[in-house]
Order: sequence, then C-alpha cells, then structure tokens
Amino acid sequence: MENTMVLDAEIIKKNIDGIMKDIEKYSPYPKKVKLVAITKYFDEQGIESVLKSGHNIIGENKGQQIRDKERYFRDKEDIEWHFIGNLQKNKIKYIIDFVELIHSINSLELAEELDKKAREKGRIIQGLIELNLSNERSKEGYNENKLNNEIAQYTKFNNLKIVGLMTMGPNTQDNEVIRKTFKKLFDLKDRYNEKYFNGELTELSMGMSGDYKIALEEGSTIIRVGTKIFEKN
Ligand SMILES: *Cc1c(COP(=O)(O)O)cnc(C)c1O
Repeated sequence: MENTMVLDAEIIKKNIDGIMKDIEKYSPYPKKVKLVAITKYFDEQGIESVLKSGHNIIGENKGQQIRDKERYFRDKEDIEWHFIGNLQKNKIKYIIDFVELIHSINSLELAEELDKKAREKGRIIQGLIELNLSNERSKEGYNENKLNNEIAQYTKFNNLKIVGLMTMGPNTQDNEVIRKTFKKLFDLKDRYNEKYFNGELTELSMGMSGDYKIALEEGSTIIRVGTKIFEKN
C-alpha cells in the first residue's frame, strides 16, 4: 500500500467522499453503514482535517491517546468516539466517560469491568465482541470455539450493551480467503442472535483500507478506515 499520508483537508475530503461512494456501490444496505475514520497515525491535526471534511466519527486504538485527543476537542467539536484497540482493564478509566462504541471486547473479564465502570458513571456504552477468525498470532480476539462457550454470558450486562461482532481480515492477498472470513462473522452474528440475543446484534465491524469493499459486499455495517483517508494519490 502507498505510504505517503497527508493532512491536506482537500485530499482528505476527496478520499472520504470516495469511500462514501464505495459504501453506496458495494453494500447491500448502504444506509445502515457507518464509516469510522481511524486517526491513530496522527496527533489532533489528523482529527481536525477529518472534521473539516464534515465527518465526525473517529476511531483510536490507544487509551491515553484517545483521552488526550478527546480533551483537546471537548466543548469545541461534536465527535462520536470509537475505541478499536486492545484495551487493558487499567485503561478503561481513560475512555469510559465519552466513548460510544468499543470494538475490541476480547474477554468476559474486560466486559465485566466495562459494565461496572459504566454503571459507576451512569452511562450505557455499546460494545462489539472481537473475533480472531484467522487465528493469526498477531491478532487479538476470541477464537470461535471459546466464544461459543462464553457468548451466553454476554447477555447479562446492563450498562455494557453488546450490539455486534468485530474482526480484522486475514493477512493475505487472496480475496476469497478474506471474503470467507467476513462471511463467517456474518453467520456467527445470525447464529448468536437467534440463540441468545433476540436480534439485538445489529452491527458487524469489518473492513479496513485494504479490504473494506469485500467487507461491504459481505454485509459490514461499520468500516474502520485509516490509511485510505489520508492517502495522497
Ligand atoms: C489501524 C486499524 C484500522 C485502520 O487500518 P487502515 O489499514 O489504516 O485502514 C482498522 N482497524 C483496526 C483494529 C486498526 O488497528
């Protein structure tokens, strides 16, 4: 992938417009789909240039960084904050006040702590359970068997509302392998909905710069795109 990233507001606007067009083109239900702009590669300026293009859904993957950026923009801008990284329990305090959706829930222990901290704050936060369907060592998330054993317990929370599943596409150039992974996540959501969640799982967070078109075709409702937003082409 091209490695020159820029903070030119015009280029960013053009890139975001292009991704929005792709949502219309590839998704079976484009109105349901949300683009999360991943700004982890930059400081506050990255977010600023995304906001200039009229987009305000922002994703970050580190506790302290998202906290610092939120403080910077608080009272100035209306931002919907998403957390997409591996979350340590002792970092929950950095994000619990403002984050809307946590994409990366990978254990019951973490979920219990999130539920508790959200309750203390009088908030309801939304969460997605992360799956590692390619079993790559470098990736976080549940394998399918383990989650099958634990999924029922995720229905018990009051302040953490589980609304769907998340995965990262496998590290390969083989589009059919990538597609299979996304199909798998789609099927799992249906299965868990039927057995445990009564249709409450509505979201599938899948698709990044390199594979979001395939993810959209396979029913993604949330794409997490960084590189392609800031790319000079
Ligand atoms: C960085 C990151 C993204 C965005 O990746 P790009 O390839 O830059 O679009 C999406 N999801 C997660 C979990 C990430 O860490």
